[in-house]
Amino acid sequence: MQVLFAATWWFGRIAVEAAVRQWRESQVDDSALRLLEAVVEGAAAVERDPSVLSVGYGGLPNRDGEVELDAALMEGAQLRAGAVASLRGFLPAIYLARAVMEQTPHLMLVGEGAARFALQQGYEPQQLLTPESLRRWQEWRQQRSAPKEVSAERAVSHDTVGVLGWHAGHLVVACTTSGLAWKMPGRVGDSPIVGAGLYADNEAGAAVCTGIGEYIWRFALASRVVEAMRAGYTAQQACQRSVEFMLRRLPEVAERQCAVIAIRADGDFGLAATQPERFEAYIARDSEIERITIHTPGS
Ligand code: ASP
Repeated sequence: MQVLFAATWWFGRIAVEAAVRQWRESQVDDSALRLLEAVVEGAAAVERDPSVLSVGYGGLPNRDGEVELDAALMEGAQLRAGAVASLRGFLPAIYLARAVMEQTPHLMLVGEGAARFALQQGYEPQQLLTPESLRRWQEWRQQRSAPKEVSAERAVSHDTVGVLGWHAGHLVVACTTSGLAWKMPGRVGDSPIVGAGLYADNEAGAAVCTGIGEYIWRFALASRVVEAMRAGYTAQQACQRSVEFMLRRLPEVAERQCAVIAIRADGDFGLAATQPERFEAYIARDSEIERITIHTPGS
C-alpha cells in the first residue's frame, strides 16, 4: 500500500475520491506536500458540494441565518497546524486554514479577522446559503421548534468531514464543517481545535472526530486517541477505548453522536462511535475505495 486516505460519513466518499485524484495527478515531487494537497483537496471537494448540508457551501446556518465555517489542518511531521473558525462568506475554509498554517505566525484566525485574512489572500466574498439551506432555516424559524439542545436533532443538522492521509509513515489530517445547525452566532465546536477535533503526530498516528463538539472537546478526543496509539494500542483499540472512556465517564454521551477515525503511523486504521449504527466512513487504499461501518456497539 502506497497511500491511504480515510474520511467521515457518506460524503467521505467525495473526499477520498478527490484526494486520490489529486494524489494521482499531482506533479509535486515532495511527497509530504503532495499528501497535504491531496487531503486539502479532499476536504475542499465536500465544502463545494451543495448537497452536503453540514459542510461549506450549502451548510445549515446559525440561528441568524448566517453560515459560519470552522476548518483545520495538521501535519504529523513537525506538528504544524492552521485553523479558521466562525468564518463567514468565504470558501473553501480549509484553504484558509492551510494559509494560516503556511503564511502566518499563528495557528488560528476567527470571525472578522479570518474574513479580513481571506480578503487579503484574494478570496471573493460569496453567499454560502443555497436555496435549500435557506428554505430549511426559514422552516426552522417559523416552527420555532428548536430543542433546547441542538444535539437532539438528527444527523443532517451537523456532521464534519474529517480527512486523514497517510503515506510512508507521514500523516496529515484536515476537517471542515458548518458546525451545528441553528447554533448561537460565534459558537465554535471541536472541529478546528487541535487536540479536540483533530490531531496528527508521525511518531504515533492521527485522528479526526465528528459529532457533538461540546462533548468531543471536553474529552480532547483526537488527542486521546493519538496518545492511546502512542501507548501501543492498534488504531481500532485506541478509538474504541477512547469512546468507551467517554461513555463510562459521562453516560449522557450515549445520547449524542461522538465519532472518531484514526490511522496509526504504520497505516493501521480504526474507527469508533457512541452511536455506531449511525456512523460510516470511507477508506481508499491506493485507489481502492471501501465503505466502512461499525457492527459492534462501541467498536
Ligand atoms: N463536530 C462538529 C461541531 O461540533 C459537528 C459534527 O461533526 O457533527 O461543530
